Amino acid sequence: MKIKHIEAIPLVRKLEDVFKGGTYVITSRNTIVTRVELDNGIVGEVFGGDEEQYQMDVCRVVNQTFAPLLAGTDVRDVEAHWQRMWDAVIDLGNRSIHMLDLAKHCAKTQAIAAVDIALWDALGKSLNQPVYKLLGGFRDKVPVIAIGGYVMDGAKAAALETEVQHYLDQGIHGMKLKVGRHTVEEDLARTRRVRKLAGPKFHLCTDANQAWTVEEALRFARGAADLNLAWLEEPVRWYDQIEGNARVRTAGIPVNLGQGEISRFGCKDLILRGAVDILNVDVTIAGGVTEWRRIAGMGASFGVNMAHHEEPQVALHLLAGVSNGICVEIFPNYSRDPMWFDLPEKQPAIKDGFMHLPEGPGFGLPLRADTISKYRVAVA
Ligand SMILES: [Mg+2]
Repeated sequence: MKIKHIEAIPLVRKLEDVFKGGTYVITSRNTIVTRVELDNGIVGEVFGGDEEQYQMDVCRVVNQTFAPLLAGTDVRDVEAHWQRMWDAVIDLGNRSIHMLDLAKHCAKTQAIAAVDIALWDALGKSLNQPVYKLLGGFRDKVPVIAIGGYVMDGAKAAALETEVQHYLDQGIHGMKLKVGRHTVEEDLARTRRVRKLAGPKFHLCTDANQAWTVEEALRFARGAADLNLAWLEEPVRWYDQIEGNARVRTAGIPVNLGQGEISRFGCKDLILRGAVDILNVDVTIAGGVTEWRRIAGMGASFGVNMAHHEEPQVALHLLAGVSNGICVEIFPNYSRDPMWFDLPEKQPAIKDGFMHLPEGPGFGLPLRADTISKYRVAVA
């Protein structure tokens, strides 16, 4: 079970449509395929991340620093591999004003994640076990919600209703509604429309992507008090994540944060300072499976539940493997996330509001070689 070779392959794909959330615009769907080849013939191969700005930095760190660092070691020693990557000094040619440049650190934690996730896939395949079983096997199906409600140029007024019905028709019983691009009052009206159409049992939550001041977030929370929202995700602007979100929590709706955290240390601060009810830490950003399960364990000690930012191909196993996982999220929309439909040979089954764990070893989602060939680019 020794590691022979590790390679990160960047994929780049432009989207046909433009998707606008509270604070950003999406025009592409990039990702990284990471391969870990073992001397027993097993190949771990996963895709992860949707990174445009640092995609090449991440691939260079994997291919130039981590691949030689781990060559010849035993794939089972995931904690040892993680620590060696964490302790490694990397050179991104970055000569910025001081050592605390966050961009450098996020490229490193994404590179650790790419390798670590592929190691878990290779480990599962070597042991002929699904990753969620190796993590603890708490459940074999996970509630699934759709990410939607984007602002689209030229969209019709009825588009939101059509969208929600589309999710219900697919057996998806929940939705994360994008808010923050309209006024608070308009977003309250949109949220109310979805609740009315989808019914009281529908898992409805909102994601402002850090668009609001604390006062705006509180105004929204008070206005939505009767809508039984599962959570408010990133309600407050980037500079006030701790005290600001702690104030929003007082309105009584759970607050979900963490998709921008790059390690357990940032999550620790959110928990200890009372800023968060749910952590949606992204395994492809915050150091991979090995770090994510530490964070989930820390959350369990403080009554904090785990969600996950996108990346269902990995998140499904994480959320099934731990006791405090809530639900997995997907884009059930080819034009928003064509890689979800085109990269795996087959998507996990969705039925009656749940995504079911695939039975194959590793992450159980073999990738299509033709899709990788079509969208791969050279590491620049
Ligand atoms: Mg979010």
